[in-house]
Amino acid sequence: MEIRLDNVIKTFDTFRAVHGVSLTVKSGELIALLGPSGSGKTTILRMVAGLEYADGGHIYFGDQDATDIPVRDRGVGFVFQHYALFPHMTVAENIGFGMSVSKVKRSKAEIAARVDQLLSLVKLKGLGDRFPAQISGGQRQRVALARALSVDPKVLLLDEPFGALDANVRHDLRRWLREIHDELGITTIFVTHDQEEALDLADRVVILKEGKIVQEGTPQEVCRDPKDAFVLKFL
Ligand code: ADP
Repeated sequence: MEIRLDNVIKTFDTFRAVHGVSLTVKSGELIALLGPSGSGKTTILRMVAGLEYADGGHIYFGDQDATDIPVRDRGVGFVFQHYALFPHMTVAENIGFGMSVSKVKRSKAEIAARVDQLLSLVKLKGLGDRFPAQISGGQRQRVALARALSVDPKVLLLDEPFGALDANVRHDLRRWLREIHDELGITTIFVTHDQEEALDLADRVVILKEGKIVQEGTPQEVCRDPKDAFVLKFL
């Protein structure tokens, strides 16, 4: 699914958080929204998901204006900052939750089979009966991703997916997210303030500052020499 933002604006009271952002994410592309805290990254992600409304401009899913698509029909999987797992549900229940409330009706057995498949995909087989408090941060992140993937999204949105994890785990999860993305080919937008992560993982990097795009391109274009990664313009 191609996602296109055309001159999108978002104002909170009198504060303009997003100033006319135009951006196309091609079908199957993996892009990073990179920028310092407060630059509007999460707000853009939430508008694409339909969790916030734009007050100017348009967002298109393919040829369709997103405002014409009910939020639950947008086919979006969202991985929130800090995972937002349900603490009172097991890993398997967390992963199956989206399917159990989806308008696509599935039997208990179908949901259980799909949960099993997803547990294998995210390499958590055997941990389905644990609760979130009984697994590591990296494992929780994988549960959050499995939950987002459970409804076969056409678009995957990840907000600082590796922010809370230590460096080694972050690095492994990065590789693994890239593999899953390449296998499933889902249009993916992830938000990060970590430029090394953005340059390492994304097909294309979009750099935001104060609600505007200041630079955009492949990692090579954004940073002709990897050493320049530490002197990108927004710092
Ligand atoms: P980032 O994800 O780049 O850190 P955000 O999109 O979260 O940035 O926020 C952009 C700006 O909009 C920030 O200054 C933030 O304080 C403000 N903002 C975000 N959400 C709200 C809200 N619900 N009400 C008021 N201001 C908000």
